[in-house]
Amino acid sequence: MYTMHPAEFAYHRPTSLDEAISLLGEVEDSRPLAGGHSLLPLMKLRVVTPAALVDIARIPGLEEISASNGGLTIGAFATHAAVAGSKVAIGIAPVLPETAAMIGDVQVRNRGTLGGSIAHADPAADYPTVLKALGATITATGKNGRREIAADDFFVGIFETALEPGELVTSVTVPATPAGTGAAYLKHRHPASSYAVVGVAAVVSVEDGTCTAARLTVGGVTSPPVHATAAAEALTGSSGSPDAIAAAAARVPQSLAGATGDVYASGEYRTHLAQVLAARALAKAFERAAGH
Ligand code: FAD
Repeated sequence: MYTMHPAEFAYHRPTSLDEAISLLGEVEDSRPLAGGHSLLPLMKLRVVTPAALVDIARIPGLEEISASNGGLTIGAFATHAAVAGSKVAIGIAPVLPETAAMIGDVQVRNRGTLGGSIAHADPAADYPTVLKALGATITATGKNGRREIAADDFFVGIFETALEPGELVTSVTVPATPAGTGAAYLKHRHPASSYAVVGVAAVVSVEDGTCTAARLTVGGVTSPPVHATAAAEALTGSSGSPDAIAAAAARVPQSLAGATGDVYASGEYRTHLAQVLAARALAKAFERAAGH
């Protein structure tokens, strides 16, 4: 039955990370609540009916965005709006704030959090694709302490991550985008929600006009997002000319076996979009790398 009211649940508001982790371990059938922009709709539709919510969004200290060891570390509770407007993030890994600014609408960006987005692992979400392309590391904290998980290992499937029960995402670290490297993320937005029907992230390094390394990651077509390795390899060693970029993008479908479709877009259409967006993202990343 469709209903706009969630089933009854208990509500806990811990004031520290330790308290949150204890609650998640002790309270049966409990779930963390961050911005609530993915969890609450699911609860209202009764797709999920947790017995208790542990509201982690107000725990201080985990929303910070800072430079760290030549990279960028973002606390899990940083909202999309905070990431989008962070001067530190813009200076170190500008494609990340650009991506945050493309998420949803103002309300979604003001409430939704980086940790909530990646823990939810929606196949149409934007961050997973970009974090994989950038080679990010996710820090998870649970009753057994902290551990670091490479983005490549973190996203496992549709709404599925490598998090253990009771573990929280506490921060995400991305390497700085160095001189001579450019990154770009482009998506085909769903017209109603802005979610990525397809999203493509490109990271390109250029030396003396030649591409020395490239990474291309495609989200929204398969789950989790995949590296379009054949396309990236085809670009490497090239001058980034329109022909070279078109030839590289033509290889994108090789990495998209099992493309999924839904009422909005078939797998075939998504694969086509991925190829088009890949050409544009590679060209933009190349241009940025050359001018960096
Ligand atoms: P919540 O909804 O609170 O939680 C989501 C899930 O993650 C829950 O299972 C929760 O238990 C768990 N969780 C939350 N935080 C943590 C944590 N730190 N550690 C472990 N588990 C945690 N996303 C996009 O990427 N692109 C879009 O264009 C986009 N458009 C949107 C449009 C609309 C209208 C809406 C409602 C959402 C949209 N979203 C989009 C999703 C939005 O970004 C969500 O905010 C995000 O996916 C979830 O973050 P949250 O903080 O709201 O998490």
